Amino acid sequence: MNVYDGLRIAAMLEHHGLESTDNVADADIILLNTCAVRAKATDKVYSALGRIRRAKKPDAIYGIVGCVARESGADAFRKIRDLNFVLGPQSYHKLPEIIKNPDSKLLDIDLGGLEKFDELPPITKSPFVAYIPVQEGCNHCCTYCIVPFTRGREISRPYNDILAETMHAAAVGAIEICFIGQNVNGYKYTDENGKTYRLSDLIKQTAKIDSVKRIRFTSSYPTEMTDDLIELFKTESKLLPFLNMPIQSGSNNILQKMNRQYNLDEYITIINKFKIARPDIQISSDFIVGFPGETNTDFEQTVDIAKQIKYINSYSFKYSPRPHTAAAIMQNQIPENIKSERLIKLDAVLNDIQREFNLSCQDKVFDCLYEGADKTGTKQIYRTPYMQPCIVETDNPTPMARIKITSGNKSCLHGKIVD
Ligand code: SAH
Repeated sequence: MNVYDGLRIAAMLEHHGLESTDNVADADIILLNTCAVRAKATDKVYSALGRIRRAKKPDAIYGIVGCVARESGADAFRKIRDLNFVLGPQSYHKLPEIIKNPDSKLLDIDLGGLEKFDELPPITKSPFVAYIPVQEGCNHCCTYCIVPFTRGREISRPYNDILAETMHAAAVGAIEICFIGQNVNGYKYTDENGKTYRLSDLIKQTAKIDSVKRIRFTSSYPTEMTDDLIELFKTESKLLPFLNMPIQSGSNNILQKMNRQYNLDEYITIINKFKIARPDIQISSDFIVGFPGETNTDFEQTVDIAKQIKYINSYSFKYSPRPHTAAAIMQNQIPENIKSERLIKLDAVLNDIQREFNLSCQDKVFDCLYEGADKTGTKQIYRTPYMQPCIVETDNPTPMARIKITSGNKSCLHGKIVD
């Protein structure tokens, strides 16, 4: 979501005649797009603003956009007096106002909903992967999560607007469409004739676009995996066999305290339905360790479920208390050193599973999407249908290629293009 917002902001500023630069000292306008999900990212914002303040031209304007802006509000101006703008994740389309009037201060952290999508100029060129937001906000009040506060309650975008943005992205270069939303599979839009559209309808329609070769979506809430969506994995070959479906914890006791609306059995039932629909499907997850009250036994259950499901790729975090959330004021907060120990243990298990899956890909042939050159500039990186980076040597990288995997390790694969 932040990548998408960043691209739209860059495109909007270019539309207003600005050019991008990596050098703060050259810039006329500097903004930080910020994340508030964990304290660490938020804490970095103010030190980064201090560095920008010292390095920038005296008359350059600067500010923050995104979730930390929404969280801080006017407080940001009290902390840094000469800051020019503070715009929440649904107000960044107002940036041109401050460009026109650089001596003013601009504060807007309203949760206006979908207004920004109508205001932003269309993109003129798309990377091969286009992120298309289908909804904003989240109605699942997970007790650890700040998102319902920073991005607001769930609103689904009009079906036709999403399809128009998707077709436009394809027309200007997208080959893979990734539908995004805080609760992407909760997408539900009823038009003026009373017809209701779900994520499965968006996928079916998108699959009809010839130049779109791959479709995926993130981030999903387990119990919103409706049968229409699961069934689509049987028939729609453009849907990648790879799904992010965060479990967060392997303990029913902790899941309940997190206010996740499923228990382990229910979660496993959903995974089994996917496996029936698409036997080669693989799952990735997010995990939180050290949630308030998490015992050693709870934690061991998380390790067990990771081994059982064999998530091929995961994001794991130490629980971070956030403002406006119920868990932040729960009893039995877990000491930092225990959180760290548990994270190291879980990561070791997750890494082993990932390595094992990558090794199992050897000799397989995948249709892969080109991403770009590697750091050395001499080799090319493609993405497999499981989103693994695959390094190949070729002088002539095509947007899609059939690649035979020759080797793999924890973090990537190596392969050869076959005809
Ligand atoms: N559904 C959202 C979730 C965003 S946060 C989306 O992807 O758009 C991504 C992950 O961060 C969550 O799945 C969760 O594992 C983790 N997370 C959220 N709040 C957290 C907190 N307070 N402490 C640690 N990790 C957190």
